[in-house]
Amino acid sequence: MSGGMSFELSEDQQTIRQAVAELCSKFDDEYWMRKDLAHEFPQEFYDAIASGGWLGMTIPEEYGGHGLGITEATLLLEEVARSGAAMNGASAIHLTIFGMQPVVKHGSDELKAATLPRIVNGDLHVCFGVTEPTAGLDTSRITTFAKREGDKYRINGRKVWISKAQESEKILLLTRTTPYDQVTKKTDGMTLFLTDLNRDHVDIRPIKKMGRNAVSSNEVFIDDLVVPVGDRVGEEGKGFKYILDGLNPERMLIAAEALGIGRVALEKAVKYGNERVVFNRPIGMNQGLQFPLADSLARLDAAELVLRKATWLYDNGKPCGREANTAKYLCADAGFGAADRALQLHGGMGYSEEYHVSRYFRESRLMKIAPVSQEMILNFLGEHVLGMPRSY
Ligand SMILES: Cc1cc2nc3c(=O)[nH]c(=O)nc-3n(C[C@H](O)[C@H](O)[C@H](O)COP(=O)(O)OP(=O)(O)OC[C@H]3O[C@@H](n4cnc5c(N)ncnc54)[C@H](O)[C@@H]3O)c2cc1C
Repeated sequence: MSGGMSFELSEDQQTIRQAVAELCSKFDDEYWMRKDLAHEFPQEFYDAIASGGWLGMTIPEEYGGHGLGITEATLLLEEVARSGAAMNGASAIHLTIFGMQPVVKHGSDELKAATLPRIVNGDLHVCFGVTEPTAGLDTSRITTFAKREGDKYRINGRKVWISKAQESEKILLLTRTTPYDQVTKKTDGMTLFLTDLNRDHVDIRPIKKMGRNAVSSNEVFIDDLVVPVGDRVGEEGKGFKYILDGLNPERMLIAAEALGIGRVALEKAVKYGNERVVFNRPIGMNQGLQFPLADSLARLDAAELVLRKATWLYDNGKPCGREANTAKYLCADAGFGAADRALQLHGGMGYSEEYHVSRYFRESRLMKIAPVSQEMILNFLGEHVLGMPRSY
C-alpha cells in the first residue's frame, strides 16, 4: 500500500504462518518435553522442516532457496516457538534460516555452490563460533588465531557456548588473522571461515546448562585445524564487518522467538486460569492473576509492533539499528515476563514439567542474555540513538 500505513501481513505471509503452525502441530509439547529431558536433538522436527522446504527460506533461488526476507524468517521462527517448541525448536534451525547470510553476501561462488544447496535440503548442519571465554561480549578481544601457510590456514584457539556444535559438520568461525595489538581499528584483522569441524583437531564438550537442552551448547577446543583458503568467507581481515551486517537480523529473529514463547505461555496461563478452581472459583477471576496476564498481553502486542517495523525497514533496505535493538529488548522482556507469570499462575504445577510452563520459563530467560545481553542493547541505544557518551 503506497503512501499509507499498513499493519496487515500479506497473503503469502499469512500462508507461511498457517503452514508452519500446521507443521509444528505434529510436534506437541510432550515431544519437546521428552527431547529436552533426554538432551536429544529434535531430528524428526528438523527433518520435517527441511522436507517442507523451510530451511531455504532466505537462501537465494539459484541455490535452491526461496530468497525471502527477514519478515518471513521472523514469522517462521515465531510460529515455531509459539507451537511450544520454544527455543529447543528455534535453535535447531535458527542458524540455517538466516545465519548463512555472510556466506550468501560475501562467500565465493565455489563455497556457496558447495554449501548452500545442502543447507536448503537440511543435509548440512552448521554452527556459529564467535564467543570466547576470555573475550565475552567484547568480540574484538577474541584470540582464536588463523595463521596463513601457503594456500591453507592453521587455526588454534578456543570457543565457548557454541550451540549445535555436536550435531554440526561445519562451523562459521570467527578468527583473528592479525593480533589485536597490531591493528589500528580493533575490529579489523578478523577473518571468517565456513569450514569442517574436523574432530581429529577439534574437541567438542557440551556445557551443562539451565534449559534448552534438546540443543547442546559446547566448549570447542581447536588444535592445529588446517583449512583451505577456499573456506574463507570474503576477504581476510573483514570478518567482523561481515558478522556485523547480520547482527540486526539476528536480533529480530531472537525477538520473534521470544515473542512466540510469550504467546504460548500466555495461552497456557489463560487456559489454566479459567479451569483451575480454588476457593470455589476459577483462579483467573482473581485480579491478582488476571491483571498480570492482561499486562503481558499489552507488552507482547507492543513489542510485536516494533518487531514488525524493524523487519519491514530491513527488508526495504532502510536503517533499522534502533528498531532491531528495541525489538530484541522488548520482546525478550515481554516473553520472559509472560512465561514467569504463567509459571506463577500454575502454582506448584508451574514448577513441574507436566504443564510445560517451567520449560518456557527456562528457555525465555535465555534471550535476555544471548546472543546479546539486554545491557548491551541499552548501551547501543544510549550511545548511538540518544547520542550519549559511550559508557564503557
Ligand atoms: C544457551 C546459549 C547458547 C549460545 N550459543 C552461542 C553460539 O551458538 N555461538 C556463539 O558464538 N555464542 C553463543 N552463546 C554465547 C552468547 O552469545 C554470550 O553468552 C553472550 O553474548 C554474552 O557474552 P558472555 O557470556 O561472554 O558475557 P560477558 O561478556 O562475560 O558479560 C557478563 C555480563 O556483564 C554484562 N556486561 C559486560 N560488559 C558490559 C558493559 N560494558 N555494560 C553493561 N553490561 C556489561 C553483560 O551484559 C552480561 O550481563 C550462547 C550462550 C548461551 C547461554
